[in-house]
This record gives sequence, structure tokens and C-alpha cells, in this order.
Amino acid sequence: MADGKSKAEAARLLRDKRAGRWYEAGLNFRCQAPGCSDCCSGKRGEGYVWLTADEMQAIADFLGLEFDKFTRKYVRQVDYAFSLTEKPNNDCIFLKDDGCSIYPVRPTQCRTYPFWPNIMRAPETWAKEAQQCPGIGADTHVDADEIENQLEQDLEGRRRTGIQ
Ligand code: SF4
Ligand code: SF4
Repeated sequence: MADGKSKAEAARLLRDKRAGRWYEAGLNFRCQAPGCSDCCSGKRGEGYVWLTADEMQAIADFLGLEFDKFTRKYVRQVDYAFSLTEKPNNDCIFLKDDGCSIYPVRPTQCRTYPFWPNIMRAPETWAKEAQQCPGIGADTHVDADEIENQLEQDLEGRRRTGIQ
């Protein structure tokens, strides 16, 4: 049976969920990289790292490549949007042993994870994602305004990549 504290917590989560911001009290998250690179790896199968033309240009500049040369090698078209390519094992093409090799110019969705709309939909989806990301629940508290900020950046990124 739930004790008074967890009952109160459950009531708070339910109330915030009804209010549309179930994470009102903030959430704990701290990426465990470089010890973990699960969300960049092929562990979850094929994935997509959506990016805009501006982001392609920023990565090309970072790598010292011409835009066309960069896109031919590192970008694939998926319907009307564009994603980074993957290695044969489904790792992101830019994942190296010590982590992301384009970290300063990584695309928006890499910056905003795990504060994505599908993950932030409800406590249940957040808890489900925690089974795949050891950073969820770690020791850094992220307040609701920052979560909202990350969500907005992610949504804007999705709009600009054409996938939403
Ligand atoms: S799965 Fe989570 S902890 Fe691991 S690299 Fe990705 S964000 Fe960081
Ligand atoms: S660009 Fe970097 S952060 Fe994004 S998925 Fe690839 S390796 Fe991970």
C-alpha cells in the first residue's frame, strides 16, 4: 500500500498532468556521457538525426568540408526531410569511442534529448524512456521552465527540419 508521501506525490503528478505540465516540480537528468552513448548508438535499431540546412552547413564548416561533399557523405533524404547517415551497425555516423565527434555543432534534437514531445507527454512516457537512458533520474535537477525551453527548441527544430 502506498504511504502518505507517495500518495501525495501521485496526487501531485496527477494534478500537474491534468494541468498539462506534469513536470511542474522539475525533473532529474544528467547525461552520463562519455560513459554512455546509448542514444547515439545503434542499440535501439535504426534511428534518425534530423537536421536543417543551417545545421548541415555548421557541421560541414566544423569538419572543413564543402557543403556538397558533406551532404553526399553524411546526409540522407527521408521523404521530405534530411537525416545524418548511420554506420552499418546503426550507430550515428559521428559517434566515436570517446563520444560525439561534432559535439559543438550537433543538431537540435541531440541537444534537446530527452526533453522531446513524445517523451514529455506524460510521466509514463518519461519513466519508459528512463529504462533506456541512465541519465534520466540522475543527480541534476532541471526546473520546469528549462524543460519548457528545451521542448520549445525541439519543436522549433522539428518544424524547421520539416518533420512536424
Ligand atoms: S542515453 Fe542518456 S545518459 Fe546515455 S548518452 Fe544518451 S542522454 Fe546521455
Ligand atoms: S550527432 Fe553526435 S550527439 Fe547527435 S546522435 Fe550523432 S553522435 Fe550523438
